[in-house]
Order: sequence, then C-alpha cells, then structure tokens
Amino acid sequence: MSGVRIDLHTHSSVSDGTDSPAELVAAAAASGLDVVALTDHDTTKGWAAATAALPDGLELVRGAELSCTSPDGRGGTCTVHVLAYLFDPDSEPIVAEQHRLRGERRQRLRRMADRMRADGLPIDPDDVMERLPAGSSAGRPHLAMALQRAGLVGSVGEAFDRYLHNGGRYYLPKADTPVHDAIRMINEAGGVTVLAHAFATTRGRTVTADVIRDLAAAGLAGIEVDHPDHTPAARDELRALAAELDLPVTGSSDYHGRNKVVRLGQETTDPAMFDQLAARATGVAVLGGRAR
Ligand code: AMP
Ligand code: FE
Ligand code: FE
Ligand code: ZN
Repeated sequence: MSGVRIDLHTHSSVSDGTDSPAELVAAAAASGLDVVALTDHDTTKGWAAATAALPDGLELVRGAELSCTSPDGRGGTCTVHVLAYLFDPDSEPIVAEQHRLRGERRQRLRRMADRMRADGLPIDPDDVMERLPAGSSAGRPHLAMALQRAGLVGSVGEAFDRYLHNGGRYYLPKADTPVHDAIRMINEAGGVTVLAHAFATTRGRTVTADVIRDLAAAGLAGIEVDHPDHTPAARDELRALAAELDLPVTGSSDYHGRNKVVRLGQETTDPAMFDQLAARATGVAVLGGRAR
C-alpha cells in the first residue's frame, strides 16, 4: 500500500452533517487523510466553502450523494443512494433536480415535525425549519437533533430507533430521482457514479445483485464496498460482484460529524481504485493536494 488515505463519502452541515464544509476539510487534514470527497445529500452548495478552506496538501473531490428510487429486483422498488463525483454542477438538469429535491425534503421535514407536534411531542416545527441553513438539504437527522434538544432522546441514533426509522409513525417518503435518470444525468455532466452502501440492510430494503448488474450496464462506474453499515458478508458479496462487472470498489466513512459515531477515514479507498474513477471524469477537476 502506498499509504495514501482516501475517504470518498462525507456530509457537512450543508446537508445532514454537523461540521461546516470548512470545518470538514480541516478535520479531514487533521485526521491524516490525503483525499476527501464532500458528498452532501442532493446539493453542491458546500463546494465553494470547502474549496476556499482547503488545507495545503489535501485533495478535494467535489461530489454529492443522490437519493434515488430503484427497482429492488424482487418486483418492488426501494431507495438507493448514488455517490456522484466530479460532475459539472451547473448542468441544467442537475440544478433543476437538486432544486426540486431540496423543496421536497423541506416540505417532508415540515410534515414530519407537524405530525410530532400533533401527537403532543415538544417539537416546534417553525424552529426546526428556521434552523436549516439557506439552500441546505433537510433530512431526518435535523428532526433527530430537535428530538435530542427536547430531551426526548440521548442521541441521533436513538431518535432513528424510536421515531424516525423507515416505516415508523413519523416516517414520510419523498419523491426521489429514478436511479437510471441520476446515472445518465451525472454521466452527461462529465461525472462518475458509485453505488453507496448497497447492501446496508439495517437501512431498509436493498437491491438484488441483478439490479446492480443492470445499473452497471446503464453506466454506473463503481461500487462502495467498505462502508460502516456493511457486514463482512455484504462486503465479500459486493467485492465479488464488482470483480465480475470489472468496476472499481471504494471505501468510505459516510462521516456526518456528531450525527453519527463513525470517524473520518474509518474506511478508505485504494488509490488505484480512486485513480480509475477519477480518470473517467471530465466535469470538474480534483482540487489541491500534491502531485502523486
Ligand atoms: P433522509 O435523507 O431524510 O431520508 O434521512 C436519511 C439520513 O439519515 C441518512 O443519510 C443518514 O445520514 C441518516 N440516518 C439514517 N439512519 C440513521 C441512524 N440509525 N442513525 C443516525 N443517522 C441515520
Ligand atoms: Fe445522511
Ligand atoms: Fe447514504
Ligand atoms: Zn451518506
């Protein structure tokens, strides 16, 4: 191993993490990473601040994590997350879809908060909404933090277990991007896509291997294998699938600051795998760092 440490999946306060983009890149450098990707949910709003604050020697991969809906391979549909890297953020279909999703996310958060208040929980929906930074992507962790502030739960994880899990009383779905559209949109904007935490069964329904084969045929460029929510068996299965499909694999922490227990760089990506992915992208460049 070359010793180069690469973490390709992190969230800032521009979506549901707690570090500002500037704090996130500082924390990435302090934790010994050489390359970090900023992948906020459904927005590129944090790119400018992360770029402006980029510490010497750290490479920044500008990205996003797209919430998508997919056939699950069993006759139904399910949610999948697609990591998108190095695409042109001004591509018109991407700008339009991210704008739509941010609106969808805010409306849904408001409705979830309203339902809690209607049940008598000490949640102020106006306060929840006012705390969201302008242009940010609202998500369930924002409601989890409100439940924590109200003293109803001790942690974001407990809020998910008791109130916010998929299918729970306060869970509401949202209209995500069809996964084939997302892959096409990112490819057309010069970017590359990686399927995130595909076999993280604790998050709800997951896709079959055949769906991933189909996504690869549709232009998916890589598979996230080493993720904190993947069991050793899930990693083995995904690694074998990636080998079959001749796709690079990645490893990432899915860091969310204080909203999750994972550390930056807890899981990392092999530099050769990252180089394969980056070589396919023509939208925007990897920023900063030293020549490797
Ligand atoms: P949403 O995008 O609003 O559906 O919320 C999903 C987000 O909630 C994910 O991106 C995770 O960041 C977070 N999340 C899901 N489950 C948990 C959990 N058990 N503990 C902490 N965060 C979670
Ligand atoms: Fe998240
Ligand atoms: Fe995700
Ligand atoms: Zn994520």
